Amino acid sequence: MRLYSPLTIVSYLIGPTLIIFSHIGSLLVLITGLSRGALLWLVLLYVIRMLATTSIYHRLLTHKSYQAPAPVLWVGSILAAAAGQMGPSWWKAHHMAHHQYADRNLDTHSPYTPLQGIRGFYWSQGGWLLSSRFFPAKLPIDVESDGVLKVIDRLHFLPLVALGAISYYIGGVEYLGAFFLSNTLLFHGVQTVNSLCHIVGKQPFITDDYSRNNWFVAFLTLGEGWHNLHHAFPSSSRHGITIRGGQVVYLLDPTFCFIKVLDFVTLASKLRVPSETALLARAKKENFQPQ
Ligand SMILES: [Zn+2]
Ligand SMILES: [Zn+2]
Repeated sequence: MRLYSPLTIVSYLIGPTLIIFSHIGSLLVLITGLSRGALLWLVLLYVIRMLATTSIYHRLLTHKSYQAPAPVLWVGSILAAAAGQMGPSWWKAHHMAHHQYADRNLDTHSPYTPLQGIRGFYWSQGGWLLSSRFFPAKLPIDVESDGVLKVIDRLHFLPLVALGAISYYIGGVEYLGAFFLSNTLLFHGVQTVNSLCHIVGKQPFITDDYSRNNWFVAFLTLGEGWHNLHHAFPSSSRHGITIRGGQVVYLLDPTFCFIKVLDFVTLASKLRVPSETALLARAKKENFQPQ
């Protein structure tokens, strides 16, 4: 904890407070109901902020699976912070620890350690955020040395609060309830990568962890559910890949499609994707059986 100033501690603790508040605020929709417009607002906020989390926080900021101009990283980080995903330093710190120690003791949110079974599921689905593990052991130097990203990190809660105010301005209490429900669904959607993707699904690739390819999580998270591929090839900008009958098969990966759009409009470049030779070399032998 000495790593953090009192102000940073307060700033970070606002994050889980707002997520808990969003869970409670979601109950507003039981009173107001959801009109077609409010439902559209909810879905729009979900998709845009999920894409910011997956394409910017995860595949760009953390894994550098493609390159992009600094403003893309900054704007994307503001949108990801508006998802209630905390700031870029906090996010990257935890995610790097996850890859470094996947499903072992120092993994921040494994469903196998320090708890197992249904308690392990609860822990990986968000319980870890309410423990002392919430504070990363160290913050990434590259993010901390970028003045803009550091400000976004310490003021991560402002974009989320501003989005709540915008929602209220647009449609009153009904849209505020839709905003809270969107936050809650988004939070749990992202957490399923930590939980379900290490418990249920296929493992076409050899890794030293329990990561899985899970189509349901891929649907919820716009492609992040192809998590076994991701642990086998963390720097790949494309996650939707598997092996069937000895052949490389490409799966629907909306986040990769979005990165391709960024590439098309010259806001992304140097997309990293493993060669088919590398993919086949890493595939488990049973994937070479005829289908
Ligand atoms: Zn994982
Ligand atoms: Zn990752």
